[in-house]
Amino acid sequence: MPELPEVETARRLIADLGLGRRIADVDDADTFVCRPHSPGELRAALTGRTLTAAHRRGKTMWCDTSGLDGPDDGPTLGIHLGMSGRIVVVAADGWVAEGGDPPGRDAQPRKAVWDRFTLEFADGGRLSLFDKRRLGRIQLNPDIDALGPDAGAVTQADFRALITAGTIAVKARLLDQSKLAGVGNLLADEVLWQAKVPPATPVSRLQRKDADRLYRALRSVLASAVAKGGAHTGDVIAARRPGGTCPRCGHEMVHGTVGGRSTWWCSREQAPWSPIERLA
Ligand SMILES: [Zn+2]
Repeated sequence: MPELPEVETARRLIADLGLGRRIADVDDADTFVCRPHSPGELRAALTGRTLTAAHRRGKTMWCDTSGLDGPDDGPTLGIHLGMSGRIVVVAADGWVAEGGDPPGRDAQPRKAVWDRFTLEFADGGRLSLFDKRRLGRIQLNPDIDALGPDAGAVTQADFRALITAGTIAVKARLLDQSKLAGVGNLLADEVLWQAKVPPATPVSRLQRKDADRLYRALRSVLASAVAKGGAHTGDVIAARRPGGTCPRCGHEMVHGTVGGRSTWWCSREQAPWSPIERLA
């Protein structure tokens, strides 16, 4: 599933190859992916414009568009990759580049029917949302303000405040997109493992040094995952399986459900904290 690093590869792809190309036509016929817009609404709003910038907060992307005649800019085009979406950009000469969720090992050839939304450029190329599972979303002027700060841009002070407020399990807090945008299940397990924090710890029990250790882990995990192309490249990810052992201390990895999500942690370094232990 695309988390912040995968979505960032898609955003960079659009920024590198999709900007400044005049939109000659739009395929917005998929009314589920393009809800609540009716067929033709996105085409009418975007034809004749160009994408002028590609932004991202957490797992949500949006593109600015140019004006048509006057000085005013066009609408904002929101793009969400959903559970398995990728952005495909085709150059004027037919060269194809992709960004987003990495193709799985069982990847089948791309079928045209899985292109859920397409901008046809006047130069003969195009930009598509390829989304076999059809859980992505295209929306004009999306509500970005419902999201918390981007996990890659949040300040240490803001992170400290958002990670410690309330009593919820720390893993559930990391996954709450309205508090912190961009962390999915794999990144959350990797960050908690790097910081040696038990995933079910109530956030009220995190001390300042714990919050700061989580912040440092978040920064380094995101930098590494963006550089390597996805959350699946984390150090503990391959050990998230029955019989897996911690790559750091060699103890058994254990599995449970935290915040409603499948969770793996090191039985020794992330053993649940006892109150007495925390007083020491
Ligand atoms: Zn360990």
